[in-house]
Amino acid sequence: MKIILIGPPGSGKGTVSEKLINEFHFEHISPGEILRDEVSKGTMLGIEIKKYMEKGDLVPDKFVVESVKLKIKGRDHFILDGFPRTIEQAQQIKELSIDKVIYLEVPEEVVVERLSGRRICNNGAHTYHLKYLPSKKAGVCDIDKTVLIQRKDDTPKAVQERFKVFHEKTNPLIDYFKKKGLLSIVNGAQEPEKVYKDVKKIVKR
Ligand code: AMP
Repeated sequence: MKIILIGPPGSGKGTVSEKLINEFHFEHISPGEILRDEVSKGTMLGIEIKKYMEKGDLVPDKFVVESVKLKIKGRDHFILDGFPRTIEQAQQIKELSIDKVIYLEVPEEVVVERLSGRRICNNGAHTYHLKYLPSKKAGVCDIDKTVLIQRKDDTPKAVQERFKVFHEKTNPLIDYFKKKGLLSIVNGAQEPEKVYKDVKKIVKR
């Protein structure tokens, strides 16, 4: 099964993906993770990419599309978390027979609160929240015991920019996938367990 997850920054795409992976063994394809990995290696490409990410802008397609396509190649059971983010990107994967597009709908004020308290482990694999999902030991990942950090693009200025980008560039995808009959909307402002329950119903349908 091929699933696309869409939602504004902080809508819970990463958390939902983590749960779906554990239960249904999906491959997780997240350009955000691929890009953060490149940045952490400190390569020339990473330095270039970092400029866009830290501002909250989209990274140009030439750095994103091919690496995502390469990851998808030969796979048929995956979640695309954070791709496509524009109509142009959606057109790049037109030939993929996507089964479902799940849109996590969350009001802006909820998301701002979530992002300001979000912490991730040093390798980016696990997500926590200071108030809603604290780690057992403050500042340390429960799973791989690395230090928890705040993403540079979770600062208020970058968050504002990411919202602007979401509204301008990603929102049109909602209509695009609705017209294709692929879209399901989930209320992402609910408790994480309830969000996941709703997502699961769609996946199993
Ligand atoms: P995410 O982890 O999905 O929130 O993505 C973090 C950042 O990575 C975004 O704010 C963008 O700068 C970049 N990024 C992720 N996915 C894409 C994409 N599909 N196209 C362009 N840039 C992306």
